Amino acid sequence: MTDWVFDFVHGDKDSKDLLGGKGANLAEMTRLGLPVPPGFTITTEACRAYLADGVEPSALRVQVTMALRRLENQLGRRLGDVVDPLLVSVRSGAKFSMPGMMETVLNVGLNDYSVAGLAEAANDERFAWDSYRRLLQMFGRTVLGVDPEVFDHAFSSLKDGRADTDLSADDLREAVQRFKDLIVEHADREFPQDPREQLDMSMRAVFDSWNTPRARIYRRRERIPHDLGTAVNVCAMVFGNLGETSGTGVCFTRDPASGRSGVYGDYLPNAQGEDVVAGIRTPLALDEFDKLDPTSSQQLRTAMRRLETHYRDLCDIEFTVERGKLWLLQTRVGKRTPAAAFRIAAQLVDEQLITLDEALSRVTGQQFVQLMFPQFDPKAPRELVTTGLAASPGAAAGRAVFDSAAAVEWAARGEPVILVRRETNPDDLEGMIAAAGVLTARGGKTSHAAVVARGMGRTCVCGAEELDVDPVARKARAGQLSFAEGDRIAIDGSTGAVFLGEVPVVDSPVSRYLAEGLEVALSEADDETAELVRAVDRLLTHADEVRRLKVRANADSGEDARRARALGAEGIGLCRTEHMFLGDRRGLIEKVILAETADERDTALSMLLPVQRADFLELLTEMAGLPVTIRLLDPPLHEFLPDRADLLVKVARAEERGESSAVDSKLLAAVERLHESNPMLGLRGVRLGLVVPGLFKLQVRAVAEATAELRANGVDARPEIMVPLVGSAMELHLIRQEIVEVVAEVAAEQGVELTFPIGTMIELPRAALTADRIAEEAEFFSFGTNDLTQTTWGFSRDDVEAAFFATYLDKGVFTVSPFETLDEIGVGQLIEIAVERGRGKRPDLHLGVCGEHGGDPVSVHFFHRVGLDYVSCSPFRVPVARLEAGRAAI
Ligand code: ADP
Ligand code: MG
Ligand code: MG
Repeated sequence: MTDWVFDFVHGDKDSKDLLGGKGANLAEMTRLGLPVPPGFTITTEACRAYLADGVEPSALRVQVTMALRRLENQLGRRLGDVVDPLLVSVRSGAKFSMPGMMETVLNVGLNDYSVAGLAEAANDERFAWDSYRRLLQMFGRTVLGVDPEVFDHAFSSLKDGRADTDLSADDLREAVQRFKDLIVEHADREFPQDPREQLDMSMRAVFDSWNTPRARIYRRRERIPHDLGTAVNVCAMVFGNLGETSGTGVCFTRDPASGRSGVYGDYLPNAQGEDVVAGIRTPLALDEFDKLDPTSSQQLRTAMRRLETHYRDLCDIEFTVERGKLWLLQTRVGKRTPAAAFRIAAQLVDEQLITLDEALSRVTGQQFVQLMFPQFDPKAPRELVTTGLAASPGAAAGRAVFDSAAAVEWAARGEPVILVRRETNPDDLEGMIAAAGVLTARGGKTSHAAVVARGMGRTCVCGAEELDVDPVARKARAGQLSFAEGDRIAIDGSTGAVFLGEVPVVDSPVSRYLAEGLEVALSEADDETAELVRAVDRLLTHADEVRRLKVRANADSGEDARRARALGAEGIGLCRTEHMFLGDRRGLIEKVILAETADERDTALSMLLPVQRADFLELLTEMAGLPVTIRLLDPPLHEFLPDRADLLVKVARAEERGESSAVDSKLLAAVERLHESNPMLGLRGVRLGLVVPGLFKLQVRAVAEATAELRANGVDARPEIMVPLVGSAMELHLIRQEIVEVVAEVAAEQGVELTFPIGTMIELPRAALTADRIAEEAEFFSFGTNDLTQTTWGFSRDDVEAAFFATYLDKGVFTVSPFETLDEIGVGQLIEIAVERGRGKRPDLHLGVCGEHGGDPVSVHFFHRVGLDYVSCSPFRVPVARLEAGRAAI
């Protein structure tokens, strides 16, 4: 029989698949002997079964009954009893944390009778009614689907300006009555008085919350699969709302925003769980908590140390103090900003908690990318509106918008926006995704806005309390300064500053380090920045030491090559020669295309020769000593001709005026002749080389001449010639003969010895499948994964992304676009086949990848695994690929 339910005493931190993250860590803390209220976890497997069948598995009910009985016996109290009732929380908890995305119901078990029992047991009437009204509110919202505004509105009119802590027992009894009426009015049913029914309904609501739109959006963004399901944790309640000796809080064992070492947290006296996150009142910092309740705070600090040494990482912790006794309600390895990730990893090495290898595994290429983003220029003038809390770093500028829908709308028009809210809630998620930054007036560094923004690398300033936000009038004011929807503002998530107008940005210290070296970067850095730069240097250096994959760059100009080399590129993996034919050289290639006789074509080609040679001279000089893979012309020829529609109009107009030009008519004829309905699968790549005589020869001659010249001058030029879009060994064989011939010619002319590697791209399924034959003609393969993805899936990249990828992502056909992260199952299989068959024929076959996936953090691991020799990516991505290649090797 399947076990659908596990008590907290069974299980550990490694059972996240089955118990979810929260459940697994509750079990781990229980095992460690930390003060966790007892309870049990209903597995993710039960959730999956429920979601698939629409009903719970039949054995689940019995197992919950038994688990509940064990809990009741342990505590000597019964769920929802009239005397001293046991109350529980029913909490979601998926494998991957999805903060604020799913539901939790507290105080389950209260009803019109047990509320009196609770009041008597606690000797606190007010507390009992406060707990009951919270249950009605949460249950009404999450289980019965009542709009939360309904309760909020009723509650504020009852509060009439008072803080919630100022309400009396009678006020709260009144609130309970109103909430019950509102439930009947809006949910068309009574609030269930039966405690067990409350429990079952809450459990189902948690299961269902897995599939809410906001949860799906979140998973899409975070690339979490849709089929995992959530566990449900049923946990005995402890109460932070039992007066001034009670309270609730959230803490971190290190600062998750900056990475500063030293504990950090928020505590809210006389409050229950959600109050801290909801930003209802501004909480106390930990050192204020020390003064208020030294005993509990000392216990908390001890627990924090214990957890951090146990998990050997930054932990975040939810806790509650009930009448002076500390309880831990949750822990997990905490989310953190990119800077914090690097600093903390290095700190933990220094503290001898982890090795350098582990430290490297704790940072990601994604985080590294974020650190390279520009920051506000400290020297530029600016107008400070106010300062809030530095919740998630970065420099974000854009137009102010005051709700999620406006953020989405403006952003869709290509306008960067800053989402300005009093506080955010999970419904703001889409707006937060669309925005460049998030600014809130209320809530601490652990508020919803802060947690979510940090998780997705959005810049965020929260708790800017001076700021008076009016979402209806769509404006905000702080002191004398104000701004309205559409006004430009800028927020600095590293300092909490909010500026009016535009503030220029400069390179980040990490970019400066990458481009100019450690010393330059350190010379201008304050202590914190210096610690960050040193951490980056240390981890990147380690990655370079351990990685097997080489990293090259895709670059077509001397300037790109120089930049790439500074960023650590060990060669060029893809030089796209077509980029050299654009701009003012278009005329030259036009002549080649329009040539009517062989002579005309040869003349036109010979005019291109010096230009190409000059390009290669520059590139090969910049990359002296390192390999440079030069790809022969790839795109269809009409890409070099004017647009057909434009030309038609031009010719027609000219004819009207009676001044038709022969050149234009000829051009038009060529455009018509070369027009293809499916150019990506048309006359391009090697096909061009075979069809247009002399074209590839010219390019090879330019490479050969440049190389001979450079080598004669003592420059170690190392070109490699790459033939695109090969599908058959014969194609490559024919072109290869031409290449060898030309190189031999040039060698003879110059009286030097000249050879260089000749290889091909693998970007068609047929090439992958016949890799053994192709390897006979190729010294190297470079996987062109963009085209290979298009041709394997049959996707036209230029069309599908806009047309239906959103639907595909939504329906879970894939969790990420296959153009962004390599589809390992499909496209990856072709790569594996090609590697195996290619190397089978030619053991020293050199293998690389030059598609955009070469710089994708996830895909790099795959390329490492299948044994490629290098990845090649855009210069900016080179450091990321170095880091990820290192991570792949440990
Ligand atoms: P989330 O995943 O959104 O943080 P949780 O399940 O952790 O949701 O619960 C929401 C809040 O309720 C948290 O602050 C948590 O600490 C508090 N809470 C949950 N269970 C209990 C409990 N048994 N007793 C007291 N507070 C609880
Ligand atoms: Mg929680
Ligand atoms: Mg291609």
